[in-house]
Amino acid sequence: MSKSLWPEGKKSAVMFTFDLDGDIIWQNMSSDEPNSEKLIRARSIGQYGPNRCVDMILDLLDKYNVKATFYVPGYVADHNPDVIRRIDAAGHEIGNHGYTHERFVEMSVEEQLFVLKRTQESIRRITGKEPVGYRTPSGDWHVRTPYLLRELGFSYSSSMRGDDKPYYTILDGKESDLVEIPSKWELDDYVAQAYCPYPAEPAGLDRISCYRNVQDNYIREFRGYYDMGLCIAFLMHPQISGAPGRNLILEEILKEVTSHDDVWVATGSEIAEFWRSAHPKKEV
Ligand SMILES: [Zn+2]
Repeated sequence: MSKSLWPEGKKSAVMFTFDLDGDIIWQNMSSDEPNSEKLIRARSIGQYGPNRCVDMILDLLDKYNVKATFYVPGYVADHNPDVIRRIDAAGHEIGNHGYTHERFVEMSVEEQLFVLKRTQESIRRITGKEPVGYRTPSGDWHVRTPYLLRELGFSYSSSMRGDDKPYYTILDGKESDLVEIPSKWELDDYVAQAYCPYPAEPAGLDRISCYRNVQDNYIREFRGYYDMGLCIAFLMHPQISGAPGRNLILEEILKEVTSHDDVWVATGSEIAEFWRSAHPKKEV
């Protein structure tokens, strides 16, 4: 791609995102297991994220002067308000990630609306700011979800997989103002670096991949997006990529990305706003 898509002629864009799922995701995932309420260890895997890993990630982001985007379920925000305040105070963006990491595709429109508003309210109460970004938790979203996001005034979503740069979500057959900033499974740290037997997560994976190879994959992904002038959205989780050992992979990615002066590292809301101003939707 010869002509730059990005501000000041930058060659490519990078977005670092962290889904702060906390223990609610383990609570949901283990709900079908026998005696799930007794799976205290499984929940502690998730609690490790807000309890320890967020601060390690904040230190790394600060070291490389990078602003990231954290998607947080309202339940996790309500139970860890000080963590949310620290993320906000460090200048990072906080987005809506459901209330209890619900499966939107299985909910009614009314339920979805309730959940979206409840999380907006939780985060606003803690930071004084209402999120403008949304990432769908657990699985797909409902056919009406993007309509609700638009109705509630969200600027963008980072939930889909449909491109390697931002695009406008099609509503009623035409491009809407809702920008989608897609990520990919290969950029998700769960795929190669998570492990939990109760239940198997990721399903079917019984070993964690070699860290050297995982790091190499991430760097190659970045170089591919960089060479072609696209927008890469790393999709990470504090309990995975913020933990000692694995945060060295994150550091190598930060080092590589920030070594290029012509890379625009931005938050979701910055990318969405820029996209609407520089690449307006098609008017029909
Ligand atoms: Zn999540």
